[in-house]
Amino acid sequence: MGKKLIVQKFGGSSVANVLRIQNAASRIAGCKKKGASIVVVVSALGNTTDKLIELANKINTNPSEREMDMLLSTGEQISVALLAMAIHKLGYEAISFTGAQVGIITDSAHTRARIIRINTDKIKEALKANKIVIVAGFQGVTLDQDITTLGRGGSDLTAVALAKELKADECEIYTDVKGIYTTDPKIEPKAKKIGLITYDEMLEMASLGAQVMQARSIEVAKKFDVPIHVRSSFEKDSGTWIIKEVKNMEEVVVSAVTLNKGESKITVSNVPDRPGIAAKIFNELAAKGVSVDMIVQNVSHLRSTDISFTVNKTEAKKALKVIKKAARNIGAGEILVDTDIARVSIVGVGMKSHPGVAAKMFGVLAKNKINIGMISTSNISISCIVQKKFAEVAVRALHDSFGLAK
Ligand code: ADP
Ligand code: ASP
Ligand code: MG
Repeated sequence: MGKKLIVQKFGGSSVANVLRIQNAASRIAGCKKKGASIVVVVSALGNTTDKLIELANKINTNPSEREMDMLLSTGEQISVALLAMAIHKLGYEAISFTGAQVGIITDSAHTRARIIRINTDKIKEALKANKIVIVAGFQGVTLDQDITTLGRGGSDLTAVALAKELKADECEIYTDVKGIYTTDPKIEPKAKKIGLITYDEMLEMASLGAQVMQARSIEVAKKFDVPIHVRSSFEKDSGTWIIKEVKNMEEVVVSAVTLNKGESKITVSNVPDRPGIAAKIFNELAAKGVSVDMIVQNVSHLRSTDISFTVNKTEAKKALKVIKKAARNIGAGEILVDTDIARVSIVGVGMKSHPGVAAKMFGVLAKNKINIGMISTSNISISCIVQKKFAEVAVRALHDSFGLAK
């Protein structure tokens, strides 16, 4: 085995075509040449997963989640085989495996399964034989041998979980940007690369829409203290390290701006204003596995009120079905769905010790004539729901006003 064990994850954009697969292969080979043991995790080529979801919906608008996992896992199976072939071509030994083959055991929550344990024997055996090991990201298997997937962006989780289990020296996430930026560089070209960021801030950013890392992968990295290096698959420079603590971090009030266009807002009008009604509505949603995000209840007039909440766009249909039934039972009025919303957030550990951050955020939006539909806060973030068409303007204005472009 090599001196150092490195887990390297290549995202879909880093293996989107033949040239990029070859580029990934030569980066991996270059690292192997220096003497490291390497475990590679790969995502499906380009936007394969999106295409497969579209295809499924053409066949059945309400596909079974088990069959969905069977379908989506094929994307990553293609990538691992092609990447192994590209590495062979360079004269190195490599072997590809599916999640099931390397014993990534999950629960049976199809499309969002949780990893229960990983049996690393097969990987260790191949590493001992001096092979580069290539594992399909995003997938696992239940104890009953059913294929599962780990939620969108789940290859990040595969990489972090393997790095933890194998006690890897490094976990590198190769992607199409140079690291974690102060905001999505595709929205704001003035965004700056961050050198070091804490798990807490990265987790908040990921949960609020920065899809560069899957939120659950950061939860696992934080829990087991797995340092992560996010970097470009096309350039040599070092990227962003995600770690436990960063010196002087409280001095920076806001460290990033995020955008999430993946939510819908549901409003239940004329809800009777008496104890137990909110519990009834949200219990029904929870029972059906719908997670609710922001919730706002208006001031009541004539003993009734409106309740609005947001859900993930992909769960909106399910939520609506549940809510319609619940509304009938409690005697509520009309139900409105707004898909034209976006969540703009500012994130920063320093917020805890600096007053006036929310006021400044609202002021910036007001100055740009952007109306705020809903507000929510956490210890280290503030989010506003705005109309989708103003989302990018809001991101750029906040990024500028909080001095992140400097
Ligand atoms: P991969 O295919 O490598 O998994 P993703 O598309 O999942 O890549 O994530 C990378 C993308 O995340 C970038 O291209 C960028 O547009 C987006 N992104 C959003 N927010 C940020 C941010 N704060 N820093 C860097 N990238 C971000
Ligand atoms: N291919 C999967 C997705 O698009 C997993 C990943 O890319 O991490 O969500
Ligand atoms: Mg990704």
